[in-house]
Amino acid sequence: MDPEHKSLARELSQDTLTTLCMDLGARPFQAKTLWRWLHVKGLRSFDQATDLPKKLRESLADHLELQSVQVVEESLSHDGTCKYLLELADGERIEMVLIPEGARNTLCVSTQVGCPVGCVFCASGLLGVRRNLDHHEILDQFLLAREILGEKELTNLVIMGMGEPMLNLDALLPALDRITDPEGFHFSPRRITVSASGYPDKIRRFSKAGKSYNLALSLHTADAEQRRLLIPTAQHDPRELVAAAKDHFQATGREPTIEIVLLRGRNDRIEDADKLVRLLKGLQCTVNLIPWNRVEGTPIALERPYEDRVEAFREALEQRGLNVTLRRKRGSEKNAACGQLRLRSLES
Ligand code: SF4
Repeated sequence: MDPEHKSLARELSQDTLTTLCMDLGARPFQAKTLWRWLHVKGLRSFDQATDLPKKLRESLADHLELQSVQVVEESLSHDGTCKYLLELADGERIEMVLIPEGARNTLCVSTQVGCPVGCVFCASGLLGVRRNLDHHEILDQFLLAREILGEKELTNLVIMGMGEPMLNLDALLPALDRITDPEGFHFSPRRITVSASGYPDKIRRFSKAGKSYNLALSLHTADAEQRRLLIPTAQHDPRELVAAAKDHFQATGREPTIEIVLLRGRNDRIEDADKLVRLLKGLQCTVNLIPWNRVEGTPIALERPYEDRVEAFREALEQRGLNVTLRRKRGSEKNAACGQLRLRSLES
């Protein structure tokens, strides 16, 4: 192993890690101890592993890198939501958000640098996609958040940050496997929610991953034409997406959430609510309404919906028998939207 080019410790197989430890003069049980530190306890600094000899820790630090993400900026809002701009080893930047709500601490992580989907209301999609994250870059956001929280428990994980999770399942599923491993971090799959803006085949692959993860389908409207306007890359008919959401419920027993970012005059009318009710017939789900937060530089003119329209929309859904939640976007106005912090850092 070339000490000039450190390897990421969590990327190494157990055999490779053991060989390295032995080369550095460690005993086999110490290699096992290191493995547990990495994959069960989430080691973030070799100084933490005080049950390993100091000399070995120093040698390991010369050969191995523990973290693939570094905080370069924090933006704390009045409600306690904290958005982190993170830098990756190659200098690319992503966002991660910690959202405290009473006893709950929810972490929102990214899966791509930027996003190829290009929803017209989203800052993450404005500059397109640079690359997929590796599985350890997804895992390291989880470990970093646990470190930041300290004594407080991380209770929920949402994969709704920058990027389209369905377009990076090859990295996301192994990362979630690590996070939920009963022999490792043992985070409950039921506390993990993954968003999808389309891609029914990939949703089905995700649903068959063998764990009861939650699905949040970013539908936004039941009208196929309006949906193509809001998500120019969207290829699939909303009916196909709802069919995939039904299959998710069949496969996992978990009720999907249907996400609707409400935009004035585009998808917030009573006729839009009626169409949605018809489309969702037969799907056990909760509809989550998110009044849009302003993002500068959107490719088409968009407005936040009026409060009374939002209430009327919610009532129309509820009166027709749907479960509805209304989510006010948290976070400071300036940086509240997903991708906003990265966008500003690229502009400066
Ligand atoms: S809302 Fe999600 S899927 Fe759409 S552009 Fe933003 S990050 Fe991508």
